[in-house]
Amino acid sequence: HTVLRDLTEIMIKNPDISPSETLPKTDPSVYHKRYLKKMRDLGQGHFGMVTLYLYDPANDGTGERVAVKSLKQDNGQASECWIKEINILKSLDNINIVKYKGCCTELGGQAVQLIMEYLPLGSLKEYLTKRKLGMPQCLMFAQQICQGMEYLHFKRYIHRDLAARNVLVENDSLVKIGDFGLTKYIPDGEIYYQVREDGDSPVFWYAIECLKESKFSFSSDIWSFGVTLYEILTRGELHQSPPEMYNIMKGEKQPPITVVELIALLEKPRRLPRPKDCPHEVKMLMEQCWAAETAQRPSFKSLIEKFEAIRQ
Ligand code: ADP
Ligand code: MG
Repeated sequence: HTVLRDLTEIMIKNPDISPSETLPKTDPSVYHKRYLKKMRDLGQGHFGMVTLYLYDPANDGTGERVAVKSLKQDNGQASECWIKEINILKSLDNINIVKYKGCCTELGGQAVQLIMEYLPLGSLKEYLTKRKLGMPQCLMFAQQICQGMEYLHFKRYIHRDLAARNVLVENDSLVKIGDFGLTKYIPDGEIYYQVREDGDSPVFWYAIECLKESKFSFSSDIWSFGVTLYEILTRGELHQSPPEMYNIMKGEKQPPITVVELIALLEKPRRLPRPKDCPHEVKMLMEQCWAAETAQRPSFKSLIEKFEAIRQ
């Protein structure tokens, strides 16, 4: 006890000796490569790949399971965005957003890996096709996505890639937003982010102004939420997926529909159809999310209130 008291006194007198400097091995966000035991691949998107590992410093199988994301290919520009993605996730703290746990930067500090909590039920897109979701569960998940998004917007970030493939399932009553690979910060006073590089963009989830002018805003996330809600209500059915549906709406056999054709459809104005068992009020919400005018679209705050009322 005396030693502990002495140590505390020394630290009070020398505030710049922080515990992390005196005890470098105990920083819980530093993960050591040698203790990460690979279990299985969890999935991959356009930019990253995610693998399940057991982090087992005791080397007796008692460690924790973590999801580890790494960049698929490492070139200069991508790794700059990658560091941004890690720092954004690190700054977020919300029950409906996947939790950042730390980084693994060994091997010369070149390939940084992002360590996050592991969500055992995987992506919402896969979950939807495996389980038969009732309407109450659909609406509960939709509201939780809005809650995570409201927090993200409150922090002045736009997600830009909201879709069922980027929502993760913890258990039958909890979903979280994952994948902040395209997230951008919107400085106070500005209203949109204009993309310059145009890589692999999830066009079927994009609002009309994103397709036409590459303008991304808080309200373009609302449009993507409408498409995500559509995915939930069609229970991830492949032949009703947004790309498939837009193809059918185009009316010609040979897919895939081009961005120019998609813009023409949306300007008619055509929209994705009402899913089979979709209640009228929910259909109304979806259509409001897809208003041509950004100012006509609801905010996540008002969507949460509306879901609360519908779910009563
Ligand atoms: P990308 O940026 O390449 O799209 P994502 O972050 O979307 O990568 O991850 C790709 C897939 O990996 C997801 O669709 C999901 O199936 C799986 N995945 C990602 N993070 C986790 C996690 N924390 N727990 C479980 N599965 C995950
Ligand atoms: Mg993804």
